This record gives sequence, structure tokens and C-alpha cells, in this order.
Amino acid sequence: MGRGTLGIAAAALMTLAGGCGDPHDPVDMAKVVEPPPRFIEARDLLVQFYGLTETPDVYWYGRVGLDCHEGRAFTTAEGWCVQGITYFYRESILSNYWPSQSGLVGDGAMQHEFAHIAAYQHGILAGDPDHDSHWFQPGGELDQAYDLLVANGLATPGL
Ligand SMILES: [Zn+2]
Repeated sequence: MGRGTLGIAAAALMTLAGGCGDPHDPVDMAKVVEPPPRFIEARDLLVQFYGLTETPDVYWYGRVGLDCHEGRAFTTAEGWCVQGITYFYRESILSNYWPSQSGLVGDGAMQHEFAHIAAYQHGILAGDPDHDSHWFQPGGELDQAYDLLVANGLATPGL
């Protein structure tokens, strides 16, 4: 992400989630809503593009669960306000706020969190919580994944 207002907002929040590799956080099923349209298609595209060896479990938090950042994000068990968070190499929790606004699944934090999962699965310590690796560099795999989603009509160009 990192493009424009939406991307900056999401990236800033996710920076707070610097412990993307912290111990498993129980998912609060009361906050879970239906995935955005075409989620499976986008997930499978990212699994293939990132070369994931295991398909992550993804939980989408919706309106009742979006309790910080003016209803755009959610509070983790660690007390962080985030758009998305990843635990180990296999589980992400995502805010559905931006996808629910645009109808496009790639307008949220999914590809960002999947890049953490990719970093884990490709052997980078703790899934690169500080975003130092090539996965998160300008023009790196995360940017390429975003472009792929845009090309498939799954994300808004220029966010
Ligand atoms: Zn991150």
C-alpha cells in the first residue's frame, strides 16, 4: 500500500501492529462478518503470487468489531488499533471497513498482511514486523501484489 490517503492511514495503523509475529490472538467470533465480495478469488491470487505453501485463515471484522480509528479499525488483545494483524504464518484478522466502502476486497490490508505471512513462510524472522525486507520495499512484492489486484479489478487504482 502506501499510496494516497487510504494507504497512508492503513499503513500508519499497521505500523502500530509491529508485533505481527506475536502469540496467537483468539479471534473474537462476535466481531467476524462475511468476507468482502470476491475474497476467495483475491486470496487465491495472493497465495499463488506470494508463493505461499499454506493458505492462511482469514477473519474479517465488521462494524460492531471496528471499535477504534472512527470505526475503521479494531483493537487487538495487545491494545493496538489496526487495520489488520497477522499471527504466525497462518492467520490474519482484517478490518472490512475500506472494502465495505468501495466493494473491492483489495482496498483493505489483506495484501499487506499476506506479505507478512509470505515473509514467515519464506524464512524471514517473525514475518518481518518492521517491514525491512524486500517484500515491503517500494516496487517489491507487496506493491506488485497490489498492482495484480488492480489488474484483476479487485482493488482501486492509485490508493
Ligand atoms: Zn505490517
